[in-house]
Amino acid sequence: MAAPTQDQVTAALATVNDPEIRRPITDLDMVKSIDISPEGAVRVGIYLTVAGCPMKDTIIRDSTAAVSRLDGVSDVRIELDVMSTEQRKTLQTKLRGDRGPEKEIQFNQPGSLTRVFAVASGKGGVGKSSVTVNLAAAMAANGLKVGIVDADIYGHSVPRMLGAAERPVKVEDMIMPPVAHDIKVISVGMFKPPGNSAVVWRGPMLDRALHQFLADVYWGDLDILLLDLPPGTGDIAISVAQRLPSAELLIVTTPQMAAAEVAERAGSIAAQTHQQIAGVIENMSWLPCPHCEERIPVFGEGGGQTVADALTRTLGTRVPLLGQIPLDTRLREGGDEGKPLVLTDPDAPAATELRSIASTLSKRGSSIKGLQLGLSPAGR
Ligand code: ADP
Repeated sequence: MAAPTQDQVTAALATVNDPEIRRPITDLDMVKSIDISPEGAVRVGIYLTVAGCPMKDTIIRDSTAAVSRLDGVSDVRIELDVMSTEQRKTLQTKLRGDRGPEKEIQFNQPGSLTRVFAVASGKGGVGKSSVTVNLAAAMAANGLKVGIVDADIYGHSVPRMLGAAERPVKVEDMIMPPVAHDIKVISVGMFKPPGNSAVVWRGPMLDRALHQFLADVYWGDLDILLLDLPPGTGDIAISVAQRLPSAELLIVTTPQMAAAEVAERAGSIAAQTHQQIAGVIENMSWLPCPHCEERIPVFGEGGGQTVADALTRTLGTRVPLLGQIPLDTRLREGGDEGKPLVLTDPDAPAATELRSIASTLSKRGSSIKGLQLGLSPAGR
């Protein structure tokens, strides 16, 4: 059988996406060379964006598989090289356009179709990160392009809950977010030097970090961006309001009245910053009795509805209770193992509720994009 042509091999390689940038390696100028022997042995040279790229094995595997499928191929060998600084700069311009020195946040551009949800809670431990991760996974499983910014300086548990890589790859001054379960994820935890305390990340530094996460990270086209905020009503809420005026808040609370009160306070900051609240999510709503049909109200009852009603009164617009998620040890285990429950056990009651909330949020129309805030944080 005749050996394949150069064009056929190129076409085969065009089906291989860079795992991080998620565009064909041929579009990204990552194919360095193609040599084909008369006997059909194909040697492909591939440029990695950076030396020691964590996804290199995936690139080798996918390229080998794509070329092997061609008729007449007897052997495939992939040889790796690394892009020069010049090549990386060209790639960066190709991906982001020549935007000049002032970096803009793509989600604020007039044409942006990305819905941005900032997930907030009054206090820690109510399941804000678990909810964020599972909503993202459910949306991604439905074919949406999803990203998460984990801005929770105290917890930054999102990478662990998704089983995402520890460190993002840098291409010049562009940051490639690790991808896990089809979700692009960036976390403060990926940038903290070892031993660095959370305190250092407060105030202006956190604001700068947030801007970097939004402007320097290559997100590509996203349908949904979820931000996992630190609990409470700290500086970051103001930063988000300023940096992402179109972000809508999602408030997570437990049914407990004490938790509901602090959640309401976290939500009412939206009144000052003129942000919309997409809704309230009650987590840990009950424990299904293992022996009967009853629901055991471990953390009390009614917190979610109370927060939704109170915020509706404060804001003067309807803030819905989007769902009530029961306690389920599998949800915690999934978080510990980096496998979201909505993917591993989609029919578990907690997963069903999370998937239903995800589809409600995916459906709702865009709201206040481009709204300008005449607001500046105090003392700056
Ligand atoms: P937060 O982000 O609000 O601090 P986490 O998402 O980290 O909260 O959740 C705190 C702990 O509670 C984690 O161990 C998580 O696995 C667990 N958890 C959260 N929601 C549930 C639930 N519905 N059922 C069981 N465990 C849960």
